[in-house]
Amino acid sequence: MGDLMGLEIVTALISAAIAGVVGLLVGKMKAFKKKKQRSPIWLSASLFAVVLIGMLYVGDKPDETNPLNGDSKPITAATMSSPYVRAEGEMVVHYINVGQGASQLLVGPSGKTMLIDAGNNDKEEMIVAYLQRAGIKKIDILVGTHPDADHIGGLDAVIDHFDVGQFYMPKVQSNTKTFEDVLQAAKNKEIKVNTAKADVTLEWDQGTNVQLVAPIGDYKDTNEMSAVIRVAYGETSFLLTGDAETKSEEDLVSSSTMLKADVLLIGHHGSNSSTSDPFLERVNPRYAVIQSGKNNYGHPTPEILAKLTNKNIAVFRNDTSGNIVFVSNGKKLDVKLDPWEFSKGKAQ
Ligand SMILES: [Zn+2]
Repeated sequence: MGDLMGLEIVTALISAAIAGVVGLLVGKMKAFKKKKQRSPIWLSASLFAVVLIGMLYVGDKPDETNPLNGDSKPITAATMSSPYVRAEGEMVVHYINVGQGASQLLVGPSGKTMLIDAGNNDKEEMIVAYLQRAGIKKIDILVGTHPDADHIGGLDAVIDHFDVGQFYMPKVQSNTKTFEDVLQAAKNKEIKVNTAKADVTLEWDQGTNVQLVAPIGDYKDTNEMSAVIRVAYGETSFLLTGDAETKSEEDLVSSSTMLKADVLLIGHHGSNSSTSDPFLERVNPRYAVIQSGKNNYGHPTPEILAKLTNKNIAVFRNDTSGNIVFVSNGKKLDVKLDPWEFSKGKAQ
């Protein structure tokens, strides 16, 4: 968008300049031939003024282009006052503001749905309300990236409130009540838990390609066991990383798996233990999303934020922008901010 506008202005300026010069020459030639009057000074002067004003306008325009690769970027995303209404053929990716935790809702080009994580236990009501507000009736694919409470805490409520198609979690156990609640909720509705691991292709929506790219190995750390999912639609792509850390990232980088993504969910809420340089280079995103809230871990860290800034990656954060909504038509991406907060009971 920014590029296009810039291009139009430049084109207009060049046209004006050419018109000015031509006007001047024609005027001079006429004056010379007919030896009558000199070129109309007012015409040249006004054209010159148009060019000057145009240049000033360009100078004042906020720079929306990436000086490194020339890509246009909607750095300033529009804020919405109501839920985004998806047009047919659009894929929408919601990074739901669950505070310190993670949850992503994807609605495919023909309306299929996928929910990855559901925030902490105290966000149960909020997640259910967000999904209802988005008009969701069924979750076609549900993924718990790993058993930590800030990711799977709300999954039992989601399972209780919505029809669920396929359910995926990595093969890692946890003896927490949160984890047991999720298994129990799935059992109650006779939902089978499939294993989330590398090289599994998820059958989702038409025109999309959904690939589980991690966990590649068997890791002791539950974060490293995080399911990492790459979703591609047309020319656009998203990488959703759970809390995968450096070890999982190393294995991803040394694999031949397609990792390139336009939008990277920054691993582990922007902790230094994720987003290693080789991994970031392989993914090579234009946009980064950080899902974090009030926390004592220092997430996201200044180091990670600086790393992203230095690479000219546009960063969107739940803690500063609320819910972040990416819209893809298969070719172009658009970013919208949705400040909606759950207020019922106001306990949270
Ligand atoms: Zn986490």
